[in-house]
Formats: sequence, structure tokens, C-alpha cells
Amino acid sequence: SPYPIKLKGEVVQGFGRGSKELGIPTANLSEDAIKTLCVDVDTGIYFGWNPYYKNEKRSAEVHIIHKFPEDFYGAELRVIVLGYVRPEKDYSSLDINLDISVALNSLDRTSYNAYKYR
Ligand code: ADP
Ligand code: MG
Repeated sequence: SPYPIKLKGEVVQGFGRGSKELGIPTANLSEDAIKTLCVDVDTGIYFGWNPYYKNEKRSAEVHIIHKFPEDFYGAELRVIVLGYVRPEKDYSSLDINLDISVALNSLDRTSYNAYKYR
């Protein structure tokens, strides 16, 4: 298993395609973060302690299941990717709410919980 996949990078400005308006902001990681991935990762939706996301040009976008009082562009984000949810496709907020429940249900299982504080 390629998991856990660790990703670390600066939160940069994305394309502002309105994910925030859908209530699902995705923190875009700098391209350097993707280049440091040492495994060949399929495009798609992943979950972990800080889930994952999509795009045209390959990008790493993270929707954190937590309400923040403000944006955090420029911050360093560390992510532990633990599993795959589904392949990439154009999304609706319905898909994403399903992805979120898949992520939460998976992360609730003991073996995934073990990574919470790493
Ligand atoms: P962009 O196109 O610049 O990525 P988004 O609409 O995807 O814009 O919003 C992402 C930004 O929202 C993040 O960079 C971050 O600063 C902020 N943000 C606030 N709450 C969250 C959250 N729970 N998960 C991810 N990003 C969040
Ligand atoms: Mg984004």
C-alpha cells in the first residue's frame, strides 16, 4: 500500500472557481508539494487527516473538515493521505458532501485513527 502519503506545502491562491461559494473551500498546495510526491498517485478524491482534491493541471487541493474563522493563504499545510474515495469528475456540492461522509466514516475506524496525531 502506498499509504500513508505525506504532503507538505504552502497554501497558495487557486483559481477561485467558486468552491468557497459551494461551502467547500479547497486549500491549494504549491506546485512544489506535488513534485515532492515520491509515488505515482492517480488523480481523484482521497481522504486522510486533511483530505484532498481535484483539477485540470495536476494540483493538490485540500478541503479541511473544520470551520476556520479566516483564510490561511501562505500557511504551511501538512497532510497525511490515507485512502482513495473515487476518481475525479466534475463535482457538485452533493458529491462533495458524500465524499465528506465517506472520509469521516473511514477516519473513524481504529486503524485510520492511529494516524491522527502523527
Ligand atoms: P482558491 O481558488 O484560492 O483555492 P477556494 O475557494 O478553494 O479558493 O478557498 C480556499 C481557501 O479558503 C484556502 O486557501 C484557505 O485559505 C481558506 N479556507 C478556509 N477554510 C477552509 C477549509 N475548511 N478547508 C480549506 N480551505 C479553507
Ligand atoms: Mg481551492
